[in-house]
Amino acid sequence: MCRQVSRILIIDDDKVARAVLRQRLEQEAYDVVEADSGSTGLELFQMLCPDLVLVDAVMPTMDGFECCRRLQTLPGGQHIPVLMITSLEDETSVKRAFAAGAADFVTKPVQWAILLQRVRRMIWQAHLYQQLEAANQALLKLANLDGLTQIANRRHFDQHLEQEWRRLMRWSKTGPQGPSHRSLSLILCDIDYFKAYNDHYGHQAGDECLQRVAHILQRTIQRPADLASRYGGEEFAITLPETPLSGALQIAHCIRAAIHAERLPHHYSSVADHITLSFGIASLIPQANQGPEDLIASADQRLYRAKQQGRDRICADLTVISEAGH
Ligand code: GH3
Ligand code: MG
Ligand code: MG
Repeated sequence: MCRQVSRILIIDDDKVARAVLRQRLEQEAYDVVEADSGSTGLELFQMLCPDLVLVDAVMPTMDGFECCRRLQTLPGGQHIPVLMITSLEDETSVKRAFAAGAADFVTKPVQWAILLQRVRRMIWQAHLYQQLEAANQALLKLANLDGLTQIANRRHFDQHLEQEWRRLMRWSKTGPQGPSHRSLSLILCDIDYFKAYNDHYGHQAGDECLQRVAHILQRTIQRPADLASRYGGEEFAITLPETPLSGALQIAHCIRAAIHAERLPHHYSSVADHITLSFGIASLIPQANQGPEDLIASADQRLYRAKQQGRDRICADLTVISEAGH
């Protein structure tokens, strides 16, 4: 977080030392906050989100090293630099300061030119780091998003499925949970007669249709661990961790009903006068002798079967078509 004015938290039990530091730093237009002990410092750190912490090494009760160590464990603590003020420049103190997580140190008596240079550099570096982090987050989000539909892309789908597979495999070894909590379900769905849609309504209308369908999928899934993604072309995947086949079936029914309710016109479809989807569902309890690709292959076979049986339906089993008709 970058403010107009950078905020510095001084943690020092010595009132006079704090006053002198405050005065010097305020002259440089910093916003200064004071704490007279390590514990007050930790509290203020969480409340006021400073850009830099100046901490005296020698304090009663909680010394500067311990305070610095604890700061690192607070939310955001690892990204806010700590400048330690030590009385001695001996090897042990310096080592201890860095081991506690301090980014740098200055010695007493404080040489103002050095202190101010370090403060300026450390705040600048911390801001730069925060900007880089934000840019990385934004890039990561972009890398995981399908440009057209704004839902997760294939790359994100692959990563998420792999990760959930491994997580649930660990659970099946150690966890007390029942089979439904250990199941990983996958719905693959594909727009029916979409080539005809494109051919008659045009590619741009096709793109808009994909966006509408993606939106419906996105709003139908509810749990944070569920993921709706664009698997490719006009095919979508919905990954449902900790969900048995019956739960996945319910969600597929909801999606099918929502797609029907939307009645996106498609007069060139052979099943209805609006857009419909075919669904293939598979569910597995992840085990070492199988992999996510088995789940995908199984859902894909069932999707193929739903298409063969007439489209606009859900197939959750190779022999039973769970729903047909309208
Ligand atoms: P089925 O009912 O068997 O699924 O038939 P279909 O016509 O939907 O399937 P097919 O695989 O023959 O055609 C898929 C079409 O989806 C062809 C392709 O042009 C279209 N498509 C794939 N990706 C996009 C896209 O990003 N935008 C648009 N507008 N069309 C796309
Ligand atoms: Mg299709
Ligand atoms: Mg297709």
